[in-house]
Amino acid sequence: MIINPATDPVWRNINLHTHTWRCHHAQGDVDAYCQKARERNLHLLGFSDHTPLPDGRWASIRMDMSHLEAYDLAIETARHQYAPLHILKGMECEFVPEFVNFYRETLLDERKFDYLVGGVHLFDCDGQWLYTSGGVQDAKTLRVYTDFFIAAMDSGLFRFMAHPDLFAGSWLHWDAQTQSCMRALLDAARSLEIPLEINANGLRQWPIQDGACRRQPYPWLPFWEMAAEFQIQVVVNADAHHPDEIHDGAVQRAFLMAESLLDQHSAFSWLEFFHASHGRSAVRRDGAENGRIPFQ
Ligand SMILES: [Zn+2]
Ligand SMILES: [Zn+2]
Repeated sequence: MIINPATDPVWRNINLHTHTWRCHHAQGDVDAYCQKARERNLHLLGFSDHTPLPDGRWASIRMDMSHLEAYDLAIETARHQYAPLHILKGMECEFVPEFVNFYRETLLDERKFDYLVGGVHLFDCDGQWLYTSGGVQDAKTLRVYTDFFIAAMDSGLFRFMAHPDLFAGSWLHWDAQTQSCMRALLDAARSLEIPLEINANGLRQWPIQDGACRRQPYPWLPFWEMAAEFQIQVVVNADAHHPDEIHDGAVQRAFLMAESLLDQHSAFSWLEFFHASHGRSAVRRDGAENGRIPFQ
């Protein structure tokens, strides 16, 4: 899908969720994603690979600490090479309370990351870490997941939260309990003003059987229909694990879903501010003229 900057709204010209080979389950490096984003006329590309963790846990699905420096450098180098594409440096992070200082001090303060994405792929259930996809199995684990997700939003670390409906790939009940939990999650997102992500990666996966229907694991339609009532802030992202997934057909379908359900002005206006504020900070980093936003 080639963006038309003259006619497409800002929120369609952005992808803030991009992986690299370093997480062990994606392909391609920073340059390949930047080239694809430029071919497809994106204004803003944010990298958000799976963060390394200080104790090396869950190492098979995330970056090694030894690759952090090169990841940082590859993005900083690309910032200068791919104008007019504007590039941001981010990380997708599990919410692990003991690593909050690493996120804050090492990534945000020392390395000047532009943003962190909250990605709850695992959650703490009575001291045991469960995978969100597969680990939500009953009323209790659904409630624990919901409370954990709300605590992650409340930490103040994350600029937005990835795939809040990730659990729907193995949870098939839009029942009263689920609605009550999701109402609490959406209410917290609204009051904390944390955007939630419609994640296109679930549209690239095998469909699952849900009663008489087959559906994609996520985005989960009843969740987003409920979200539309809450007037929350939203972002649509590729969650690209291959350069070809930047604004591919799955992203197009996610955009169409967002447009059909949400009030675009209230859902996406935060991205215009985000876009503009990071544009100005990039100008300062590049030593260019005052106040000029390079991607406009
Ligand atoms: Zn994720
Ligand atoms: Zn991701």
